[in-house]
Amino acid sequence: MEVKLRVVLLDVSDNPLALLWRSYRQCYSSSFAPELPEPPDEQKEDFIAAMISRGHLSPLEHVKFTFAIEGISRVCSHQLVRHRIASYSQQSQRYVDMSNFRYIIPPSIAQDPQAKEEFERIMGEIRKAYRRLMTLLSQRGVEGERAMEDVRFLLPQAVETKIVVTMNCRELLHFFGQRCCSRAQWEIRALAWKMLEICRRVLPCVFRKAGPKCEALGYCPEGEKGCGRYPRREEVGL
Ligand SMILES: Cc1cc2nc3c(=O)[nH]c(=O)nc-3n(C[C@H](O)[C@H](O)[C@H](O)COP(=O)(O)OP(=O)(O)OC[C@H]3O[C@@H](n4cnc5c(N)ncnc54)[C@H](O)[C@@H]3O)c2cc1C
Repeated sequence: MEVKLRVVLLDVSDNPLALLWRSYRQCYSSSFAPELPEPPDEQKEDFIAAMISRGHLSPLEHVKFTFAIEGISRVCSHQLVRHRIASYSQQSQRYVDMSNFRYIIPPSIAQDPQAKEEFERIMGEIRKAYRRLMTLLSQRGVEGERAMEDVRFLLPQAVETKIVVTMNCRELLHFFGQRCCSRAQWEIRALAWKMLEICRRVLPCVFRKAGPKCEALGYCPEGEKGCGRYPRREEVGL
């Protein structure tokens, strides 16, 4: 069965535009944040976008997005959880039986019938080995999570996982800067672009210009490995 990447927005801070606007305005106002009279949304958006372009980013930490993600491999989730300014709840391989685990096939393999057949054959072998070992441990009286926590050592990195992630807007901008870049690995890049699409719909004034770090920098810091969309750092005299 084909495993598809799914990204669902589970939650976002209440009234994020007003919350951001009040947080930013508090820095510059003698009044108390809750008592500030709100201008029309367009003015709030312009003000927030201007603050971001000046590099005033800390008020962005007040607004959080929570995503539910499925259809990614453990290769991808391992990269995702390297981002530390975030909260994660990931499907456990200790409590969830992986006898019928789903897996992600990388595009270079999926597009090559011979490579795909070999890949799927090996995944099938691992599934069988997982079940055999579970049966064997059960015969020795080791069952349930005690067995799964050890038999999971057989699972490949391709195994599909599900995860709930919460990041604030500042961390999201940083995450998109790194992971929307063409230098990022294809799977986490696809995930990052899907998350960005959602963020842009919810809070365009924050995320309209978000994306690979070159967009904000105006040059590519990746040297010879850059995609060529932006001039290299040295080409802009930095
Ligand atoms: C193209 C690419 C290739 C990569 N290759 C490798 C690799 O080969 N090996 C590898 O191990 N990793 C690799 N990584 C992962 C990378 O090193 C980071 O661990 C990951 O991208 C998380 O980014 P971060 O640390 O900037 O940010 P986050 O953890 O998201 O934190 C955001 C920011 O908060 C600040 N911050 C967070 N924690 C601290 C802290 N403890 N001290 C000070 N400041 C902090 C930093 O400014 C940081 O940039 C790669 C990432 C990319 C995008």
